[in-house]
Amino acid sequence: MQKTPHNGIKVGISSCLLGAKVRYDGGHKQSRYCQNVLAEYFDFQPLCPEMAIGLGTPRKTIRLVKDEDIIRIVASDGSFDVTDDMNKYSKEASSTLHHLSGYILCAKSPSCGMERVTLYQAGTNNGQRDGVGLFAAQIMKDHPLLPIEEDGRLNDPLLRDNFITRVFAYHQWKCLIDSGLTLAKLISFHAQHKYLLMAHNPALYYKLGPMLGGNSDKTVEQIADEYIVLFMQVLGTLPTRKSHSNTLAHLQGYFKSHLNSAQRIDLASNIDKYRQGLLPLMAPLTLINHYLALFPDPYLVQQVYLHPHPEELKLRYSH
Ligand code: SF4
Repeated sequence: MQKTPHNGIKVGISSCLLGAKVRYDGGHKQSRYCQNVLAEYFDFQPLCPEMAIGLGTPRKTIRLVKDEDIIRIVASDGSFDVTDDMNKYSKEASSTLHHLSGYILCAKSPSCGMERVTLYQAGTNNGQRDGVGLFAAQIMKDHPLLPIEEDGRLNDPLLRDNFITRVFAYHQWKCLIDSGLTLAKLISFHAQHKYLLMAHNPALYYKLGPMLGGNSDKTVEQIADEYIVLFMQVLGTLPTRKSHSNTLAHLQGYFKSHLNSAQRIDLASNIDKYRQGLLPLMAPLTLINHYLALFPDPYLVQQVYLHPHPEELKLRYSH
């Protein structure tokens, strides 16, 4: 996949992660990976919900509070409550974000945190880390298919690869829809993602194909709506060394008649070493791409699994 400016991929992000000084203390929470690396590939759309509702900076800290069954967002010293403002803003902003292919949120924030945000019991200083920021909750509710991650989790090589893979795939899906949906395009999309899906969740992958069989009364739009829900669910499953190895073994089969015995043994050994954790995923994939260049196969050439995101991101070098 070629690196082009942004590739037109729009991704929402908490403003403070891009270095904007919008935090309560007048500082930022710059993510160098987002700002220096991902910004080359994504057209970031920064939002700061707390600034947007007029809290300004510097400002008093705020926290999530559970008040009976209602989650409120209030000043930590109890001097104000911005729950209604935050909920109103979150609903309005979220309704304008259907063009996004992903979202990166700032962890632990009572507005932007997507999980394990400290949630206090009303009237106490007792908190448990089981809350979700109000803005993040609205985004996740309104955009259930949208790939969403927090900045800290992107330091994990597997989670990072998985998130960026999902963003690129979801972007491809949006391009397909924008180009005018047909069953033929849907079938082609599925074919291109065959091995990627297989590597993520083989059991669910086998349920996707029959959805496109054309033996139902459903319109192509209805089929697409159901298909993309399961598709994103499959990609949301973290692949394992075992599932990758099984997928690589399928790919290996394409070259059997082309390779001599030493090459076959070398490729099988590469896959096995990856399975055992002795080599990163990039090693067998590089060999497969090498053989694919020598012995082109039209079905394999189109496989997203071989190039789910730009190689310069080096996402498959460390796991
Ligand atoms: S975490 Fe969200 S609300 Fe807080 S400063 Fe960053 S962008 Fe603003």
